[in-house]
Amino acid sequence: MTPTEVLEQKGAGLRKQEDLTLLHEVSVATAGVSHLEMCIQCGTCGGSCPSAADMDHTPRMLFAMLRAGMRDEVLRSNTPWICVSCYHCVVRCPQIVHIPDVMYTLKGMAIKAKLYKDSTAPHFSQTFVGMVETFGRSFELGLATRHYLQHYPLRLPGMAIMGLGLMTKSRMTILPKQIKHMDQLKAILNKAKTLELTA
Ligand code: SF4
Ligand code: SF4
Repeated sequence: MTPTEVLEQKGAGLRKQEDLTLLHEVSVATAGVSHLEMCIQCGTCGGSCPSAADMDHTPRMLFAMLRAGMRDEVLRSNTPWICVSCYHCVVRCPQIVHIPDVMYTLKGMAIKAKLYKDSTAPHFSQTFVGMVETFGRSFELGLATRHYLQHYPLRLPGMAIMGLGLMTKSRMTILPKQIKHMDQLKAILNKAKTLELTA
């Protein structure tokens, strides 16, 4: 093979690697401007994520897989389901990638493709939604206790130590607290459900 042919083959390989169809599909489907294409693979998101230990892939890895067109692997990952939308990664991301919003998109795509099979994540999401519908906000202690008791009871003692630390620093409450004007939130949620049904 001549040097020119070698270069042409390498160029074709690079073009193949740079098929960003899946990445663009996810970016376009995400509400607002996701900045997904601007990810520089620095890894700050995974290093900042409180849920990373339970994820199949860190957000950085997931975005690299999107770039590589690994549709099935991405949609089978538990990562979007484990993300708790704390936005810690977003405030630290140098490219301001809207990571939790991308996670919402991936969850929707996984459901539509019927590719996500884990039983714990949908239960976690349902518990979270139930709390928002009841209190207007997440009740972290109740959410974590219910989830770990049901799915990971052996990990509960370790979580209890972390929970105590959060409570002593007033970062978590021992009892749920309902927001003001709950009736207004219920009206918004009901409207959203109606729109979802007609979409
Ligand atoms: S912190 Fe932002 S730029 Fe860095 S890997 Fe995560 S998403 Fe990409
Ligand atoms: S928003 Fe999700 S991915 Fe980002 S730090 Fe929080 S749990 Fe991790």
